[in-house]
Amino acid sequence: MGVTVATAPRTRLETHTVENQPQPFAGRNLYLADLALREAVRREAGDWLDERAIALGALAGSEEVLALGEAANRNKPELISFDRYGRRLDEVRFHPSYHTLMALAMEHRIHDLPWALDTPGRHLGHAALLAIFTQAEAGTMCPIDMSYAAVPTLRAQQDLTAPWLDKLIGGRYDAPLRPIADKQGVTLGMAMTEKQGGSDVRANTTRAQSLGGPAYSLVGHKWFCSAPMSDGFFTLAHASGGLTCFLVPRVNPTGERNAIHLMRLKDKLGNTSNASAEIEYHGAYALRIGEEGQGVKVIIDMVQHTRLGTVAGTVGLMRRALAEAMNHVAGRRAFQKTLIDHALMAAVMADLALEYEAAVVLAMRVARFLGETAPEARALARLAISLAKYLLTKRCPNFVYECLECHGGVGYVEETPMPRLFRESPLNAIWEGSGNVIALDVLRTLSREPAVLEAYAADVALAKGGDTRLDHAAVELMMHARKPVDEAQARSICERMTLLLQGSLLVRHAPRAVADAFCARHFGAGVGLTYGTLPATADAAAIISRQLNS
Ligand SMILES: Cc1cc2nc3c(=O)[nH]c(=O)nc-3n(C[C@H](O)[C@H](O)[C@H](O)COP(=O)(O)OP(=O)(O)OC[C@H]3O[C@@H](n4cnc5c(N)ncnc54)[C@H](O)[C@@H]3O)c2cc1C
Repeated sequence: MGVTVATAPRTRLETHTVENQPQPFAGRNLYLADLALREAVRREAGDWLDERAIALGALAGSEEVLALGEAANRNKPELISFDRYGRRLDEVRFHPSYHTLMALAMEHRIHDLPWALDTPGRHLGHAALLAIFTQAEAGTMCPIDMSYAAVPTLRAQQDLTAPWLDKLIGGRYDAPLRPIADKQGVTLGMAMTEKQGGSDVRANTTRAQSLGGPAYSLVGHKWFCSAPMSDGFFTLAHASGGLTCFLVPRVNPTGERNAIHLMRLKDKLGNTSNASAEIEYHGAYALRIGEEGQGVKVIIDMVQHTRLGTVAGTVGLMRRALAEAMNHVAGRRAFQKTLIDHALMAAVMADLALEYEAAVVLAMRVARFLGETAPEARALARLAISLAKYLLTKRCPNFVYECLECHGGVGYVEETPMPRLFRESPLNAIWEGSGNVIALDVLRTLSREPAVLEAYAADVALAKGGDTRLDHAAVELMMHARKPVDEAQARSICERMTLLLQGSLLVRHAPRAVADAFCARHFGAGVGLTYGTLPATADAAAIISRQLNS
């Protein structure tokens, strides 16, 4: 656990007095303090989520939970392959803070809320809560998000997976390895990536041998398998009928540990609290989900939902970084002025705040799309999630870096969360489809499903007449996108489509100062490469005030 400070630290020291330091960050409600998120949640979902979000916001922003997040990342998970007698365990030992965080996340229903409700905007509940919790701790959100995302794939074969659904939806965190019938709740992971191919899952070499009925035996390896203490893993393997999706439980039906060997844990750049393992299946028991040969089609629903998690997780990382930076520049002075009162620092903060506003408005809109049932809306949801994943996750490292620099030297020091946020910041772009893969996915959707492009255009056009720069950019982009797009242009078109969607949402819903600055930055003349280069017409004070006064 982190250091709990009961009495204020001493500031009058023998050699100097400690002064000119910002207010401690802890003790704020991470939802109530976030005006952009609050507005987006209310607009897209109504007020049903408020009570939950306020409760989680208070918890995640408390000194205790922020300290848990720090402790879970300072104390790496440890692989325990064998017990003292040489028998296989294949377990990961986590610091107690990890278990507490997992329990809190499940208590607050981040893993299952949309599946327990029939409310419009229910996936927004997952996305908003995940964004809030991420600000305290990001690593635990990997198993939480995979468990949430597993539900559509479990539902694809309810005759076999009903006990899993029963334990997942409404379940509590129950860490010890036991048959699921004896557990109060379960978590699920996903194992697809192999050494010879991750994006190209058809290159998988894991083999599945039928044992009769839905039961199979798997032999092979997976190069990345996060949260290896999950109760089961969706995995891809070649059966005689082709690449097939399987559910591999940690405990097989006879109550024995399944033959899943944890070979080693990855020594990762960040995401330290979360274990990511290399695993091998040594004749592991598995249940077939869907038909043989339909593996990608079956598991893609899960991937689609985890992509929402990458978007929401990015919003959470951005928010914590921005809120920390705002706290610092509003509480520290240099050259006789508070940092935020220097025109150039205000320009930087306004630019960062603007990017955060655009990220939130898009993330919550995309989450809202996901719950729609009409086929066009579902197709638009797929496209919009890919667009949001592409641009938001890719921008995140530079965003966090700039927030880090706002702190000066202390931002580079591990006592602040900035180094941890920075190390975490590239990850959401890599997993669940790396940048190029997502961009190519978007291109494929545009060429195969022209109706999706028209649905996208109609959504952007809802802002028509609100800003001439946006209108011109939309016409230009649609002319380009309606023709066949060369593969090498995939990133370029993704970027422009995402910015347009963000612009359209901001013009419709954000205060004038925010929408105007965004359109000027992205659709006007001249764009700076670094933060703090908004056009001179931007109303920095108005943009910043939404961060300081919420
Ligand atoms: C911390 C962490 C945890 C992970 N956890 C899991 C997990 O739990 N389960 C799991 O299955 N996987 C997991 N992964 C793996 C992750 O999903 C893969 O690393 C990712 O999908 C990319 O696969 P790859 O590493 O084989 O890279 P490759 O597929 O070799 O790709 C390398 C690069 O080439 C690009 N590329 C690929 N194809 C093309 C193309 N056609 N045109 C242009 N560019 C292309 C990619 O965008 C990427 O930038 C995890 C990864 C990390 C870092």
